[in-house]
Amino acid sequence: MKIRTGIGYDVHQLQEGLPLWLGGIQIPHFKGLLGHSDADVLIHAICDALLGAAALGDIGKHFPDSDPAYKGIDSKVLLDKTCLLVRQKGFNISNVDAILCLQRPKVAPYIASMRQTLAEVMGLETDDVSVKATTTEHLGFEGREEGISAFANVLIYK
Ligand code: MG
Repeated sequence: MKIRTGIGYDVHQLQEGLPLWLGGIQIPHFKGLLGHSDADVLIHAICDALLGAAALGDIGKHFPDSDPAYKGIDSKVLLDKTCLLVRQKGFNISNVDAILCLQRPKVAPYIASMRQTLAEVMGLETDDVSVKATTTEHLGFEGREEGISAFANVLIYK
């Protein structure tokens, strides 16, 4: 069996008055993430981890932010397309583990819903999708609430 892991990282800027999409769901908050798509930083990190594991490049290569087709797009569509690319290369997706780094809002009440949503899009069991969150103790851009970052790790096999 061929086993591959991949890592993904993404950052988006927070701005007042934008919707906040994280892990495929909208979370009530007075700020949201700025981006060409819906700026779902968690999904983007997962996409990059998947593409990395399959050595398929990165999210910017497949879904360039210069392409008007992706303007305001639901990142779940990008995740679905990414999973297809990975499976077209002959790989099965085993699991995802991800971390959101943000000071506010508290996302603990939404983690179960994110995991369920991501698992449905990816064709996985909810148990195969882990989402965690941490503050950065008020340090850095996440701590100053200027932006949110996310890390993801995936395992694929064939
Ligand atoms: Mg992004």
